Amino acid sequence: MSIDIRRVICGMIQENCYIVQAEGRDDCVVVDPGDEYPKLKAAIGDRRVGAVLLTHGHFDHIMAAGEMARDFGAPVYVGAEDAEMLNDITKSDYTGMLGLTRADWPAIDAASFGETLSVCGMDFTVLATPGHSRGSVCLYLKDEAVLFSGDTLFRAGYGRLDLYGGKMGAMLKSLKRLFTLPGEVEVYPGHGDATTIGEEKARYRI
Ligand SMILES: [Zn+2]
Repeated sequence: MSIDIRRVICGMIQENCYIVQAEGRDDCVVVDPGDEYPKLKAAIGDRRVGAVLLTHGHFDHIMAAGEMARDFGAPVYVGAEDAEMLNDITKSDYTGMLGLTRADWPAIDAASFGETLSVCGMDFTVLATPGHSRGSVCLYLKDEAVLFSGDTLFRAGYGRLDLYGGKMGAMLKSLKRLFTLPGEVEVYPGHGDATTIGEEKARYRI
């Protein structure tokens, strides 16, 4: 099966939202609808949204999730340990750094990810990858060799560790775990351009 992945760059810090659709389906999954809801809605077009998947609880990945869930009647999923961040501005706003307020986005009602999620004709394996936040996850489509890595793994880098719930030891473990995936796996990160597991693994001595 092939899948179509469309990146929409949103918001003040250029977050990557991904609209993911399996071949032959008329519905799609949205990963990290960070902001600019009208732009995302236009990109989704007449597709149904089967689920909104959040890689973690930072504001730049979640701001459009509440509106999207409401409009499309779609469930929202987040890592269990990040659920507390979605509606707590002091935790989701980079530890209150940017002075956002509770009114900046509507409340988000999310369920916790299990270990797998089958939706819109795709089978996601949910990899718990704490480090950038306690509940960060990476979403792996094994058959398609695709990974949505949130702010855990970037092209030539990894996510900040100085924000709420960030922890270096956990990040190292998570990166090690990701580097056990096949080298050809395409990585779609929360910021910046796509890469592969093999390309990123080669940069580290862990
Ligand atoms: Zn983040």
